[in-house]
Amino acid sequence: MLISDTFVIVGAGLAGAKAAETLRTEGFEGRVILVGDEPERPYERPPLSKGYLRGEVPRDKAYVHHEAFYEEHDIELLTGSAVTGIDTAASEVVLPGDQRLRFDRLLLTTGAAPRRLTVPGADLDDVHVLRNLRDADALRERLEAGGTAVVVGAGWIGAEVAASARQKGLDVTVVAPASVPLERVMGPQVGAIYRDLHLDHGVTFALGTGVDAFEGHNRVEAVRTSDGRMIGCDIAIVGVGVRPNTALAERACLAVDNGVVVDEQLRSSVPTVFAAGDVANAYHPLYGRHVRVEHWANALHQGPAAARSMLGAGKPYARVPYFYSDQYELGMEYSGLAQGSDEVVFRGDPASREFIAFWLHEGAVAAAMNANVWDVTDALQALIRSGVQVDRARLADPHVALVDLPTEVVS
Ligand SMILES: Cc1cc2nc3c(=O)[nH]c(=O)nc-3n(C[C@H](O)[C@H](O)[C@H](O)COP(=O)(O)OP(=O)(O)OC[C@H]3O[C@@H](n4cnc5c(N)ncnc54)[C@H](O)[C@@H]3O)c2cc1C
Repeated sequence: MLISDTFVIVGAGLAGAKAAETLRTEGFEGRVILVGDEPERPYERPPLSKGYLRGEVPRDKAYVHHEAFYEEHDIELLTGSAVTGIDTAASEVVLPGDQRLRFDRLLLTTGAAPRRLTVPGADLDDVHVLRNLRDADALRERLEAGGTAVVVGAGWIGAEVAASARQKGLDVTVVAPASVPLERVMGPQVGAIYRDLHLDHGVTFALGTGVDAFEGHNRVEAVRTSDGRMIGCDIAIVGVGVRPNTALAERACLAVDNGVVVDEQLRSSVPTVFAAGDVANAYHPLYGRHVRVEHWANALHQGPAAARSMLGAGKPYARVPYFYSDQYELGMEYSGLAQGSDEVVFRGDPASREFIAFWLHEGAVAAAMNANVWDVTDALQALIRSGVQVDRARLADPHVALVDLPTEVVS
């Protein structure tokens, strides 16, 4: 790479910030420009539904780097600047006012945005979503005021916000079409463990139904469910998933399909343009197909991987998908992809909330979750990566070391 080269990164979240850092640690001496539309320097989002939301973790802990980092590493950080276009023919990104930045390599780390409900009343005051620090600040203020909350959606954001709201003493009802929380990712068995956890902490569920409307005069006062219930509330939080921010890529005619389509080195259909993090639908060698992962660890590792690819030193990105969640006293880590699995095996008693769940697909471990059990991620990921058939009894037996399992083929 030439010292005169300019690498532009659009999206100043975790993936973008780690990519910029990696360009410098890998010795790139050209210009690095990191452009973000938020007013903040890059920060991590997980605290926004947990400690930060509850007022237990200071704002400073959320930032990816200390304030002087970008200047110290000669990274030009443009905050509050929404990129409006990409001109791939001219190798330029367009900023408001038609200001143009020429690039030799471009990385898109534009993340994802919350899906909105289009039902009547969705724009009433105190109907919240949670994606950024501004959202978290607004919600945090409302949680401090107490009262009654309806959480719409029982995925990760919904479940974590419900837990935080209960911990702040609000009365909480979760409304969702699923039969148990987290059903889409975890399936009914493990989802039921989370349902019981929330019930034990006083959450009320309205499951198997959706939302028809938010009712109220200016502010939300109630949620009307599709099965005819009217649930009064002072605040509603909508957590019904996210959409990848692909508008720029689409307008630039990059291949887009559930995210910016990239190869295993995170290169898009335009060879000078790369993508990483929530926005990237990357070919995954382990699965032999494209996978888009909406989790912290993916942004943490894909940003650097994309940076190395931009420098011509890329390797296939083949990490096992990983995420974590904390709700009340239950902390967990999850590796792999459970969708399509046909069986769940437990090691330890799920009722004790200290266990490992294994999702099997045709006898091999497709995914695993360690709940209040720690330092097992490497062993679980080795098991998933191995793809070998496992002996269910030994998988369930806590006396069999996890590290001994990957090579155990059932005869
Ligand atoms: C509340 C919350 C809690 C979470 N908790 C967990 C957790 O416990 N565990 C876990 O594994 N994951 C968690 N996640 C998911 C994790 O935070 C995301 O996977 C991660 O933030 C993705 O990072 P990213 O850099 O790809 O995208 P983002 O963090 O979304 O950053 C993208 C940035 O690009 C900006 N941008 C978009 N378009 C433009 C444009 N045109 N011009 C300039 N800038 C633009 C966006 O505004 C944003 O600042 C959580 C997410 C949220 C919202």
